[in-house]
Amino acid sequence: MVGAGFSGAVLGRELANAGHRVTVIDTRNHVAGNCHTERDPDTGVMVHVYGPHIFHTDDTAVWEYVQGFGAFEPYRNRVKATARGQVFSLPINLHTINQFYGKTMNPEEARAFIEAQADTSITNPQTFEEQALRFVGPDLYETFFKGYTQKQWGCSPTELPASILKRLPVRFNYDDNYFKHVHQGMPRDGYTTLVERMLDHPAIELRLNTEFTPELGAGYDHVFWSGPLDGYFGYRLGRLGYRTLDFERVIGDGDLQGCAVMNYGDADVAYTRTTEHKHFSPWEEHEASVLYRESARACTPDDIPYYPIRLVEEKALLGEYVSLAESTQGVTFVGRLGTYRYLDMDVTIREALDTAEAFKTALAAGERP
Ligand code: UDP
Repeated sequence: MVGAGFSGAVLGRELANAGHRVTVIDTRNHVAGNCHTERDPDTGVMVHVYGPHIFHTDDTAVWEYVQGFGAFEPYRNRVKATARGQVFSLPINLHTINQFYGKTMNPEEARAFIEAQADTSITNPQTFEEQALRFVGPDLYETFFKGYTQKQWGCSPTELPASILKRLPVRFNYDDNYFKHVHQGMPRDGYTTLVERMLDHPAIELRLNTEFTPELGAGYDHVFWSGPLDGYFGYRLGRLGYRTLDFERVIGDGDLQGCAVMNYGDADVAYTRTTEHKHFSPWEEHEASVLYRESARACTPDDIPYYPIRLVEEKALLGEYVSLAESTQGVTFVGRLGTYRYLDMDVTIREALDTAEAFKTALAAGERP
């Protein structure tokens, strides 16, 4: 397994359970990839080192699977947004709409009101901007999505696919739960402990601070690659675009912002969101607090990739890399970076479980996957 994030850990565990000997390597000095959590040295607060991760899924088997490696606390992500000098509730819900327009509409009135703002001439939204204009109209789009998205992705929402905005619901009631999934929670001891437990198996050898080399790979029957897809091929066709994140750490006492995640919609605020980590574990008590200001920028070869950009240009290159990957024997490409898709944790785990099953089935049928 190349990479000790959820893909490598779940696949490693499943194949070890099936009797295989597995080595998991990672270039970093910790497991869990970008889900990594650790105690902040000054405050003792559990921090999401690479940005906020909230576990949410409709996949009951995945939910039960992760709980097999550690307790989850109930957690509801209730995000706030600062924009144009006010604080609003996200995702856009009836409170947001009534506050924004200074009204007291009920759900039916709000639905009709927003439909009147929306651009109904857009029947099949393709871009992020079209999707927003079709579903919330220009006012809400420009306040909550346009600036944030420009900062997050470094391009105009007219260039981004509608699928990015489809991650967020619009609600005509006061439900401010960011996610709609039936299972939502936070691992009590953090994601890193969870992944360490997945990897804690006599048939799994974990090697941190270890780069993959073809020579290393040659010592194994099969390689599962969860690093960047283009990276496996030495970027020989060119580089797929990623966004990376920077975090500015702020320490203080008490409660710094009153919630876990505050988004910033205005284009002239440099950061996209601020995360006050202790609100992710409300069952713990901490007087001191640590907050990260998060901003996105283009990923250089020396940076950690976070988000695949998937613009038109990347999609063409992606197609070429996918063909290369498909014709590469003995290697399976998995996870957000390995398949260059904007995957959430639960989908990553589901795919890793399915990949392990397919691998076992192929071996049982005498094939060499
Ligand atoms: N988004 C936005 N304003 C917000 C929150 C999200 O415009 O206040 C857009 C932005 O383009 C973002 C996308 O919606 O990349 C998906 O948001 P999500 O919160 O799912 O992003 P993640 O937590 O994965 O970074």
